[in-house]
Amino acid sequence: MNKRPLPRLLATALLAATFVSHGALAAEGAEPRAKNVIVFLADAAGVSTLHAASLHGHGAPLQLHIQTWPHLGLSETSPVDKWVSDSANGMSSIMTGVQTRNGVISQGPDAVRGSRDGAPTKTILEYAEERGLRTGVISTQSIADATPAATYAHSNDRKKWGEIFPQAFSPRYGDGVDVLMGTGRQKIGEQLAEAGTSFDALGRRHDRPIHASLAEVVDSDARPVVVTDGLDVHEATLKALDILQDSPEGYFLMVEWDAHTDDVRKGLQNIVDFDRLIAEVQKRVDLEDTLLLFTADHSFGLQVDGGERGEPLLQGYEQWKQAVDASGTKDDLVRLDNVLVNRTHTAEEVVALGIGAGAHRVRGYFPSTHLFQVMLDAWGWTAD
Ligand SMILES: [Zn+2]
Repeated sequence: MNKRPLPRLLATALLAATFVSHGALAAEGAEPRAKNVIVFLADAAGVSTLHAASLHGHGAPLQLHIQTWPHLGLSETSPVDKWVSDSANGMSSIMTGVQTRNGVISQGPDAVRGSRDGAPTKTILEYAEERGLRTGVISTQSIADATPAATYAHSNDRKKWGEIFPQAFSPRYGDGVDVLMGTGRQKIGEQLAEAGTSFDALGRRHDRPIHASLAEVVDSDARPVVVTDGLDVHEATLKALDILQDSPEGYFLMVEWDAHTDDVRKGLQNIVDFDRLIAEVQKRVDLEDTLLLFTADHSFGLQVDGGERGEPLLQGYEQWKQAVDASGTKDDLVRLDNVLVNRTHTAEEVVALGIGAGAHRVRGYFPSTHLFQVMLDAWGWTAD
C-alpha cells in the first residue's frame, strides 16, 4: 500500500467530489417537502372535455396551460357500490382517502344516504387545520354543495345544506376553514331558516360576519366568509391567495370551478377561464415549496366526433340553444355538428395533473383516493 500522503491535487479533487456527491444526495434523497398545497377541481371535467375546451377556447389541441404540467395520472372515481360517481363520493374520496357512497359527504361507506351517519372520515383540510396551516375553500357553486362541502363537513346526505354549512363554524380540528367563498346565498339561507338559524345568527354566534359579496370584505380580515349569489371566482381566488400566503406554517387551498357541459358552450368556457386562473396562480407561488394539483371528481359524457381545423368547434350550438329555450324541454342528448353530449356523469377515469413539490407521485392509473396520499406525502405527514 502506498503510505505517502496523497498528492495535493488529487486530495483536492477527492474533497470536491465528496462535496458534489453530498450535494447530489441532498437533491435526490431528501426530496423537497411541500409547505403549501392547492387543489384545482374542475367538476365533471373528463379528458374529452378538457380536449374540447382547448379546441373551443384556443382553436387547437394541447393549448390549455394545465396541459403543460409535467406529471399526470388517470384517477378512477367510482363509489363503493356503483360504477358512476357523483360529486359527493368523488370529492370525499380525494379529500379523505376513503371511497364512499354517492350522496355522502366525507363519511365512510357505512353511511346510508339520508338516514344513517357513517364514521366521519378526516379530510386533508382537517389535517392541515390540525397542524396549524391556514386553509381556504373557493367555489363557483354553492359553498354547501357536495364538492366544497367534502373539504370541511361530514353528512349522510349532500342535500342537507342547513346541516352542512354551519359545520364550517364548528370545526373538529383547528379553527376551521379560514377563507370560505362561494355561491348559494339564497338556497343556503332558506335551509338555514328551516334549521332554525340564519347567516346573521351564525355570524354573531361565531363572531364571523358572513358577507353577501366580496366587496364587503375588509383588507384586514384574515378569515373572510363570503356567501353570495354571484362570485367572481378569479378575484376571490387571488384574494384568498394573498391572505393564505401570509401563513407562516403554510396553507391548503381548494378551488372548484364547475365544468358540467349540459350547456356545452358554458361548460367549455368555464374550463378555459379556470385554466387562465390556474396559470395566474402558478405565477404567484414558489413551486419549490408548493404542490399544485388539477383533477375532476368524475367524468362527463362529451365526445368530439367531427370538425375541421380553422372552424369553430361548437357549430350548431346557437340553433340548439334556441330550440331548447323555445321548447323549454331538455333533450337528454345534445347533438351538435361536431360534438355529442349525453348530459350524464360517466365512469371512465379522469386526468390528474401535478406540478411542484411532491407532484412526481401523480402517475399511472390509480383510485382517486391516491390523491389524498399524494398530498399527505408532499407535506411529509402520515395518516391517523
Ligand atoms: Zn361533480
